[in-house]
Amino acid sequence: MSGKKLIVLGSVNVDHILNVNEFPKPGETLAGKNYQISFGGKGANQAVAAGRLGANIQFIAAVGDDELGKKIHQQLKRDNIDTRSVATIKNENTGVALILVNAQGENQIAIYAGANAMVTPDYLREFENDIIQADAILMQLETPLATIEQSAKIAKQYNTQVILNPAPAQQLSDDLLNNIDIITPNETEAEHLTGIKIVTEQDAQTASDILHNKGIKIVIITLGSKGAWVSDSGKGELIRGFKVKAIDTIGAGDTFNGMLVTALLEGKSLSQAIKYAHAAGALSVTKIGAQTSVPTRTEVDNFIK
Ligand code: ADP
Repeated sequence: MSGKKLIVLGSVNVDHILNVNEFPKPGETLAGKNYQISFGGKGANQAVAAGRLGANIQFIAAVGDDELGKKIHQQLKRDNIDTRSVATIKNENTGVALILVNAQGENQIAIYAGANAMVTPDYLREFENDIIQADAILMQLETPLATIEQSAKIAKQYNTQVILNPAPAQQLSDDLLNNIDIITPNETEAEHLTGIKIVTEQDAQTASDILHNKGIKIVIITLGSKGAWVSDSGKGELIRGFKVKAIDTIGAGDTFNGMLVTALLEGKSLSQAIKYAHAAGALSVTKIGAQTSVPTRTEVDNFIK
């Protein structure tokens, strides 16, 4: 485990996953198969990835006072996560994601925030010192935006490195972007943030430059099986991923982010950290589920050799 301290601030959801041949049209009812309940939420997925892959990590989040909330708490602890800042909210449900996966492996997702909505700037105040003392904070966009803005501001002020995975896609204020050190959108999120549709490498650099101009030093646009466009201070390159047989891509980005930050905190160079993140991301798509598909560190180390 790296001595450096990571905070993940983000969402916890219970994923209800159903396979369908094709997505139902409005008003239509279709039979699905392989119903599964699994633990997800981008925050929890990235916390679990970082914990399992070797980071010294504290998670700031909230669950409901339901049975699933209790189970999630226990699961997070098993993945070496410091959960003292995971609150249990009375009379509230743990967040829910309803996920349909079609025969092509594409997904449609609707989310109920539940307890995640209680991770407010007020709630954050209790943990400001933890953010100040940490070496890095990793966030996504399933938590109230005001909380993300507040924690990015505190982190930046006290030299805690700020990594934002801007998912799911939404508009962000210049003030927030200016406090981010590393941003990791996928192609859709990059287009949402910059207005640039990523088709060519030049598009990826143009989108990166727009984000650099907002004050972000490192832009990493993940490109699924193709790898990632990595631009450090305006100098970009394509870093290819690993070839694997993809079975389920849910959670690939979360595993990528968890491994990326863990590797950076271990002192690896940016390109080495991306290589580790690609390996972890690739291994995750060979298995079903979000947290269940996060590999162990030994699996990643052996895969890279
Ligand atoms: P998201 O899951 O957020 O949409 P991507 O699809 O871009 O993000 O995937 C994130 C990372 O996961 C990629 O940069 C790559 O490292 C890995 N990855 C995703 N899909 C595949 C795949 N089919 N084969 C190998 N690696 C993959």
